[in-house]
Amino acid sequence: MAFRSLVPNTKPPSMLLTTWEGVRRGGKAPEFNSVSYHGKINENEWVVKISSMEPVSDEWLEKVFDGQVTWVYRKEWDAYPVLPPTTEFPPVKVDTGFYYVNAFEPFISTMETETIAARNVVDLLFNEQYGSSICGSRISGSPPLWFPPTLASKRIP
Ligand SMILES: Cc1cc2nc3c(=O)[nH]c(=O)nc-3n(C[C@H](O)[C@H](O)[C@H](O)COP(=O)(O)OP(=O)(O)OC[C@H]3O[C@@H](n4cnc5c(N)ncnc54)[C@H](O)[C@@H]3O)c2cc1C
Repeated sequence: MAFRSLVPNTKPPSMLLTTWEGVRRGGKAPEFNSVSYHGKINENEWVVKISSMEPVSDEWLEKVFDGQVTWVYRKEWDAYPVLPPTTEFPPVKVDTGFYYVNAFEPFISTMETETIAARNVVDLLFNEQYGSSICGSRISGSPPLWFPPTLASKRIP
């Protein structure tokens, strides 16, 4: 791999990430967002994933990989939405029995936090519908619920 910032003849890192910092200082946009070596598929061939704001040209690939590119698969995936900072978020609870698991995504968007958000919604739903929760009889700190007689029979012990 040939990048000006890499020391020639040294082993390149398996992942390169760029930031927007240079642009903020009046410089040029980075040529790519990330370059990562994913695995060796035979003796002399590696799978390398490159993500960039615009498709990178064949010439660019040839230059960066010293003319050793064997095949290229390009996937246009408009995967970098503009997410401006905000203080307004959609409601977690939309209506009775109706919750929006992704309400926190504009605040923090990861698989882990979304898993927790989904778990919390199940907890809220249990609490609303059955006065129960995933881990025990009540969501901690929640006020006791009043159950109409029709719902009381659905209550999970
Ligand atoms: C570019 C990008 C990079 C990211 N990188 C990371 C990362 O490196 N690590 C990380 O942890 N998180 C990352 N995230 C965030 C992560 O992808 C989300 O937090 C996570 O996918 C949210 O999970 P989800 O199941 O709530 O929603 P989704 O994964 O969006 O799943 C919702 C599913 O519902 C389907 N669907 C929508 N409407 C309907 C409908 N009406 N009927 C049936 N199906 C429907 C959709 O097709 C989709 O499959 C990234 C997000 C983006 C956009």
